[in-house]
Amino acid sequence: MTISLPVQPVVATPSSDDSLLPVYKRFPVTFVSGSGVELIDSDGRSYLDLTSGIAVNALGYDDPGISMAMRDAMASGLLHVSNLYHTEPGAQLARRLTELSGLARVFFCNSGAEANEGAFKFARRWARAASGPARHEILALRGSFHGRLFGTLAATDRPGYRAPFRPLAGGISIVERDLGALASALAADTVAAVIVEPVQGEGGVRVLDFAFLRALRELTRQHGAALIADEIQCGLGRTGTFLACEQAGIVPDMVTLAKPLAGGLPMGAVLMSKAIASAVNAGDHGTTFGGGPFITSVALHVVDRLADPALLEHVRETGEWLGTELAALAARCGRVRAVRGVGFMWGLDVHQRAADVAQRALDAGLLICTAGDHTLRLLPPLIATREDLARGISILEGVLS
Ligand code: PLP
Repeated sequence: MTISLPVQPVVATPSSDDSLLPVYKRFPVTFVSGSGVELIDSDGRSYLDLTSGIAVNALGYDDPGISMAMRDAMASGLLHVSNLYHTEPGAQLARRLTELSGLARVFFCNSGAEANEGAFKFARRWARAASGPARHEILALRGSFHGRLFGTLAATDRPGYRAPFRPLAGGISIVERDLGALASALAADTVAAVIVEPVQGEGGVRVLDFAFLRALRELTRQHGAALIADEIQCGLGRTGTFLACEQAGIVPDMVTLAKPLAGGLPMGAVLMSKAIASAVNAGDHGTTFGGGPFITSVALHVVDRLADPALLEHVRETGEWLGTELAALAARCGRVRAVRGVGFMWGLDVHQRAADVAQRALDAGLLICTAGDHTLRLLPPLIATREDLARGISILEGVLS
């Protein structure tokens, strides 16, 4: 006897999302597969992806190394055992991240915002131990984006995201991107930590000046505050070095990572100095899924690939070329006011509404995202070649004109 199973209809474009909470404005397209730098929609149409799932898919789609790492990780049969017990892959990944960053200890969690929330708690724990409860404030910079959870929202300088949820978590404030303003805020001796994105992503792709970052490192040290580098978007190879901070020659007290860390699986991490780690005790923080054996096995593979000097050199060289090509595009088409970026992270200020340009780019087979109302953001997979990027620029030029 043959049993015929009901056949799932091919999903029409776009999916019917009636049961999902409508917190996202989604483009009207449903993706069904991907390979390298291309995604395929439910009508079989292909798109060049210069967004990488918002800086997550650094190795592109259907990467054979990630598939093999997942198969190998499955072989143990352990997806999860909880943090009540030891497993080997998490310990190995933590060791690798400390070697690569020069920091001493690692806490694993499940997202970027969660990594920053953890870093805020660790900073307060350390500052309280060193100087008492008065030293508790967290400062974030104008233009920053550190997440949308309850604490991180207060450190995220996006009025539209903040307003509906006031009052925001206390003890967290936004300070101008200015050394004078930071120095006077730090002088009060109430600051536990300053959090900074070396390249502000959502805030318009702003590469912070290296001299500014070095001076901030010095200021925080002088005033006994921790410096947290949020490298959730700009870290893990995106700027052409494993961490963006390396280019400024600074080692922060904590670095937060997420996005590409586990190749598309949800993972975050807080890397911290010995001094911070030694102030944190058992029971001070935790999360059920953080650092499980499956995800850390996959992340170990991804981190090795993203730390590969050949990949980093490709990002530096191709990124420099990309910047020149984007500046040439701006000069040619007259519709781009400014081009900013580094490595594989670029922003273009446009006269038109950025969301409209991104929609027209999608119609033309190109995925780009936005960073504010008038900034287009390009976050290509780090494996993209000059040919891929040149194709993207040519589509974008047609769309802009
Ligand atoms: N920090 C930065 C710099 C980010 O770009 C993001 C996300 O875009 C976050 C934090 C929050 O990460 P997640 O969305 O994984 O919570």
